[in-house]
Amino acid sequence: METHVVFLVYLCKSIILKKMKKILIFSLLMAMMFTISCSSKQSSNNNNGNYADRVLKNGTIYTVNDKNPNAQAIAIKDGKIIYVGSDEGVQKFIGDNTDVENLRGKFVLPGFIDTHAHFVTGGMLSKAVTLKLDDSVEQWKKDIKAFADANPNEKGVFGIGIYALRFGKNGPTKEELDELVPNRPAVIIDEGGHSAWFNSKAYELAGITKDTPDPIPGVHMYQRKPNGEPSGWNKEAMTIFPLIKKLNLVSPEMIAKGGEEVFELLPAIGLTAYHDAGMMQMEELMYPALASLEKEDKLTVKVVGSYMVQSPTQVPIAVDKIKEYNKKYASKLIRPNTIKIHNDGTLEAKTAALHKDYSNEKGHKGGILLEGDVLKNFVSDIARNDVNVHIHAIGDRTITESLDAVEFARKEVPNTKSRFSVAHVVLIQDKDVPRFGQLDVVAQTTPAWITTEEIDNPDLGAERSKKRYRIKSIENGGAKITLGSDFPVGGEFGLYPFYNIEAAMTRKGFDKDSQVLPYENEKMSLESMIKGYTINAAYQLNMENEIGSLEIGKWADIIVLSDNPFEIETNEIHDIKIKETIMNGKTTYTRKWYYWLFGY
Ligand SMILES: [Zn+2]
Repeated sequence: METHVVFLVYLCKSIILKKMKKILIFSLLMAMMFTISCSSKQSSNNNNGNYADRVLKNGTIYTVNDKNPNAQAIAIKDGKIIYVGSDEGVQKFIGDNTDVENLRGKFVLPGFIDTHAHFVTGGMLSKAVTLKLDDSVEQWKKDIKAFADANPNEKGVFGIGIYALRFGKNGPTKEELDELVPNRPAVIIDEGGHSAWFNSKAYELAGITKDTPDPIPGVHMYQRKPNGEPSGWNKEAMTIFPLIKKLNLVSPEMIAKGGEEVFELLPAIGLTAYHDAGMMQMEELMYPALASLEKEDKLTVKVVGSYMVQSPTQVPIAVDKIKEYNKKYASKLIRPNTIKIHNDGTLEAKTAALHKDYSNEKGHKGGILLEGDVLKNFVSDIARNDVNVHIHAIGDRTITESLDAVEFARKEVPNTKSRFSVAHVVLIQDKDVPRFGQLDVVAQTTPAWITTEEIDNPDLGAERSKKRYRIKSIENGGAKITLGSDFPVGGEFGLYPFYNIEAAMTRKGFDKDSQVLPYENEKMSLESMIKGYTINAAYQLNMENEIGSLEIGKWADIIVLSDNPFEIETNEIHDIKIKETIMNGKTTYTRKWYYWLFGY
């Protein structure tokens, strides 16, 4: 949902960061005045010295382990769970040095796993000038100039958010950008990440002249003046990201700095792990940023990383790339193991690929990146290497192509350890619904998007509009549904797990009067949506033996909630707050008693 990038980055900054910063300052002040302790030491019982580092007891624990779903207590040692059961049973794990926390009956779940987000990209953007899609060209220019003036010591200006065609059919020119940033390189990426606006200094330092050939003529290319000189508008990834790297406009240090702010927020919404669904071909800068955050103990979640394919030219190198990143950066918290294929666009931009024309535009069916044998062979090749496959597919034709490719790969490589998932799964035709279960393809989605959909989307027509977000039918066919945010482009509510869970259960907005999206029978159960953020999410990431439920031997990734979602009204679920988040046995977030001052 790239079209909303700027607006949402703005939202994320203004709503979350500001609040969290306020809370941080406030909590420093409060820490000087109060000391709150909820832990105590208890004397030992004999257990052959196998004492826990930490015990949580007197809780209402929902383990998401079907064999042992309910418990009161958990014992943790070296970051892993060594006991799940009753308060009585946990007693023997409590030694002199065991930290014991009384949960006072609170409801406990495994830590949440966001199965599709771009948190590292979010970190990078928080250090760039971000323009609002709805603003005028004049306003964008003012914002860029103001950012440049406010950051005189930066090497250059990096930004995102223009809509290039608003400058005319030949796009923006370098001269216009020179007026705003004359002496330093400036690069402003468009709202979808497919083109960018460069100034003269950026061309000069990157060595781009009228004699520089287009990387892939007709696709990855420079808009040119009649004399052949690049005019300031670079199209597609190969004319953008290698140059940004060369110009040093974005560095791992800058990304880590922004990432610090973003990762600090994640435990507060209950996350202990996530799948990074793509870094727009900036992986070579972003993985080092993640690694440095981990080294400084500032990585608050486990990260399953990907290599993002946005151009057919990446197909031959993709498997080598993800293997290289795995070899270089796999660690306790970082695991690059997925190839993400960005296979179509969005319904809003009418770039999602459909089987039949968009209702109000004859002859237009959207566009697909890879299809047919190209996609089938690519997916099989990935499967042969036991790497996970994650395909962005919003239109019904892209979903068909994705399922066809997995079907082919399952035949070609029957013993693959790869996990296959389709991301977003917005529009789906009847005959593809059961195929998710048949082929064991995970359907990954952001239910909060349902709340902003029109009941009849004029681009699809009334009948086809009913074929959106058919997640219960997909689940009935035996497939796993997983949930995620698509941050920073996923909408105001998509970031918050309890908003997504409620939206999947109600299929309507969060205020009382909002209408229900068609197909009442697509409403999901609370149990399966909790699985969507825990054990099924872990399955998508190929980590279900390590995380996703509270079981002996798994990492102690645990969240304590303000309320029991099974005991409140469905339309109150989005109000549930996280009281405490624990990752690998360590507390990464505790909600302070004065949270109500800030509404978070
Ligand atoms: Zn995404």
